[in-house]
Amino acid sequence: MPQKNERFLVASNRLPIVLERINEKWEARPGSGGLVTALTPLMKQNHGTWVGWPGVTGEEDLKSPLQDFASEQGYSLHPVSLSDEDLQGYYYGFANEVLWPLLHGFHTKCNFEPGYWERYQAVNDRFAQELLAISSKNDFIWVHDYHLMLVASGIKIGFGQRNCCYFHHIPFPGPDIFLKLPWRREILSALLDFSLLGFQTNEDVANFIRCLEAVFSDTKQRFSQGLHEIRCGSRTTRAGAFPISIDFDSFAHLAASNEVSQTTAKLKRLHADQQVILGIDRLDYTKGIPERLEALRYALLHFPDLRGNLSLIQVLVPSRQEVPEYQNLKERIQGLIGEINGQFTEPGWIPIHYLYRSLSREELVSFYLAADIALLTPLWDGMNLVAKEYCACNYHEDNVLILSEFAGAASQMYQDALLVNPHNVVNVAQVIRRAYYMHKSERAERMKRLRESVRKNDIYFWLRTYLEAAFEGKSRIGSSRRSYFYLAERCSEAS
Ligand code: UDP
Repeated sequence: MPQKNERFLVASNRLPIVLERINEKWEARPGSGGLVTALTPLMKQNHGTWVGWPGVTGEEDLKSPLQDFASEQGYSLHPVSLSDEDLQGYYYGFANEVLWPLLHGFHTKCNFEPGYWERYQAVNDRFAQELLAISSKNDFIWVHDYHLMLVASGIKIGFGQRNCCYFHHIPFPGPDIFLKLPWRREILSALLDFSLLGFQTNEDVANFIRCLEAVFSDTKQRFSQGLHEIRCGSRTTRAGAFPISIDFDSFAHLAASNEVSQTTAKLKRLHADQQVILGIDRLDYTKGIPERLEALRYALLHFPDLRGNLSLIQVLVPSRQEVPEYQNLKERIQGLIGEINGQFTEPGWIPIHYLYRSLSREELVSFYLAADIALLTPLWDGMNLVAKEYCACNYHEDNVLILSEFAGAASQMYQDALLVNPHNVVNVAQVIRRAYYMHKSERAERMKRLRESVRKNDIYFWLRTYLEAAFEGKSRIGSSRRSYFYLAERCSEAS
């Protein structure tokens, strides 16, 4: 753990703030989300600084709102300014058009534009230089996510010695996908300059090591004290799985509040005598929404007993709205919803209710509570926090979680969620039916265990285990189990 005299620096693409223009002036308020909540006490205690892009480009004067934020929250913000060209090349280009699709297994969607890589290197280097300038040798630097994979290497090139660790929030694919990247060697090499690499799951760690082995012939690794010790030539690092989580108590408390129960009651009244299935996703091709809708269509077509008795509420949170691919995906989803509703609607019953907007935290929790079944079927997802939030909120313990095998959360929830392969629409349809008929005693047993697991492995546990690994070189959750061991168990059950 960082000592009180060691400063704690966090770097991420965006600062953890929402900037608002009020009376011609910028005001900064804290962003929501479990990561910010969990890190805040530590940042306060260790004179923390969060380094990142504030969210606006140009010559905006942000000094005073950022100082106000620092005195209110008890830690500082250090803005890294980005020009429009930086944003186009580094963020919209390399991060969104190369790394996001590649690391989620969609390499055919990648735009390997060399200019993007140039900008990505330049912006990562700027982050590294800013971090060097504001820190000293004893400080701890924690870099978050795929936007900033070159930062430790930039610090080293600048002749700085820092304890610099990294957490990767999204999946890491195997060599068959990752090796398509023209800059595979540079990125893997840069990652080796971090002293700890945290991934979401054992599958991600195994994939990362296989990529290293493919690119660096002298890669050696051994598993010790819950971590993989990796040596490539003269460089050593450690890697481990640290599944991120949520602030269980804050969701559970909100779920029990009056405000939420009133909205939940309204939603339940609207769907009286029916079971509600809930899908909540950011608009993204990784979330498997068209496949999910096809599975529902299949279920309604082949299991007429479900018609009139079950409705899907699909919440789509707007994202990357300026990108044509995302606009096309939205149109495709809306087209499918229209078709399915046109095909099956009967007087008094509509199969799919659709919301295209962001929900407030209270609304979100009301939807979690009103749903009998959550249907979360990403094609590949780093974790899927919605799955954990859904369980945390459902204190009645009378509902079912259907979860994709390819959500990071599946590696923790595989025993009590109903796992599905999101590409297998027939199986998803059958599992929807199974969930619909699941007896309340089985629902209760499964949900009780799921909630207990999320409660124990909450965001604070994640933070403690990561920091123990960073400072003590060991992890109490590390496991050398085979990649996708939970799939092998399921596949052998099915045969
Ligand atoms: N969420 C939100 N507003 C909404 C719907 C969801 O802020 O209207 C939050 C939700 O509470 C969750 C996050 O968005 O914490 C989604 O995280 P997840 O890991 O499921 O997917 P991601 O969008 O990060 O890929």
